[in-house]
Amino acid sequence: MIYADHAATTKMSRAAIEAMHPYMEELWGNPSSLYGFGQKAAEALSAARARIAGCIGASPEEIYFTSGGSESDNQALRSAVAAGERKGKKHILSSAFEHHAVLHTLRQLEKQGFEVELLPVHENGMIYPEQVADAIRADTCLVTIMYANNEIGSVMPVAGIGEVCRKKGVPFHTDAVQAVGHLAVDVRAQNVDMLSMSAHKFQGPKGIGALYVKKGIPLLPLIEGGAQERGRRAGTENVPAVMGMAAALEESLAHLKENTEKLFALRTKLIDGLSRIPHSVLNGDRKNRLPGNVSFCFEGVEGESLLLLLDERGICASSGSACTSGSLEPSHVLLAIGRPHEVAHGSLRLTLGAENTEEEVRQIMGAVSEAVDYLRAMSPLWKDKACGKKEFLLN
Ligand SMILES: *Cc1c(COP(=O)(O)O)cnc(C)c1O
Repeated sequence: MIYADHAATTKMSRAAIEAMHPYMEELWGNPSSLYGFGQKAAEALSAARARIAGCIGASPEEIYFTSGGSESDNQALRSAVAAGERKGKKHILSSAFEHHAVLHTLRQLEKQGFEVELLPVHENGMIYPEQVADAIRADTCLVTIMYANNEIGSVMPVAGIGEVCRKKGVPFHTDAVQAVGHLAVDVRAQNVDMLSMSAHKFQGPKGIGALYVKKGIPLLPLIEGGAQERGRRAGTENVPAVMGMAAALEESLAHLKENTEKLFALRTKLIDGLSRIPHSVLNGDRKNRLPGNVSFCFEGVEGESLLLLLDERGICASSGSACTSGSLEPSHVLLAIGRPHEVAHGSLRLTLGAENTEEEVRQIMGAVSEAVDYLRAMSPLWKDKACGKKEFLLN
């Protein structure tokens, strides 16, 4: 199998697995228990919190553990707008290509009377600080813009966006699920007020994540119950998962430089190779993108069919289009950067990890190129284009 879907999830690192073991077999006590056995778990939890905080330039008291990126996004948004509403502010500024954990939460907030404004995304996959500055209003209660896009890999100028928000006194949340563990994240230097992260995107366990909340920014609980996480997130802490997350993050950052260099090289090869397929286009900026991200649209191809053909060759990849409830809607991200519906349907996302090899990249290139040829040969629409009856949309 060739795994090229690291933006969907990653294999746990050995370090993460080993860090979890003792907290399942030996130190499995409840951190809220007062006896020493429970307190040993509490101490480990508190040390892990400090280690994770250190990895993003935060203080331990600013880290709240959650079940992952989706919960962190939900809590950040709902909490920030509740604080804004108390001051009569009901305008939320976000972008058209956020993850559904953000977009679907915004949709709910809209139903509750908030006004949601989604900034348009440039064709290169970018949102610029000036756009945010121009759109912030006196009644804006929250700006939420993702750090790096999970489909097209573009990386936002987070520090600049944060600076604009700070100057205007508006809280700034960023969904950094694709960034943490893969880019150098520093919440202080980058003027971030709230940040979501998820362990399974950086070789930690699934079902654990964190929300960073800057000191002084109020945080409301989504889940009520016990006093865990200083009363902001009830439920017995998942100590093994937290230990795995801390180990995975430290390990990712320890190898950040070498992994980034390796991924840059693999990614460039893959982009160059796939660019040779006629009537194709790279999504997102060529340079300013996540180290392992390669995203293309191929005209005259259905993304889902392409994925199935790649799967037959043992290649795990992903398509931009989310096939929800039988209706084949093209990806909102590709539409946001201006791809026509027809083109957006032919999308392919390959996200590489440090374990991928040059040989695998070669095999992926060959398989994609053959699959695209095969699917085009079967398409009546493609035949019309090839003989000039219809126009090509991509050169
Ligand atoms: C994966 C992902 C999420 C969701 O994280 P989970 O931990 O799976 O809930 C949110 N935002 C982005 C950008 C992601 O890539």
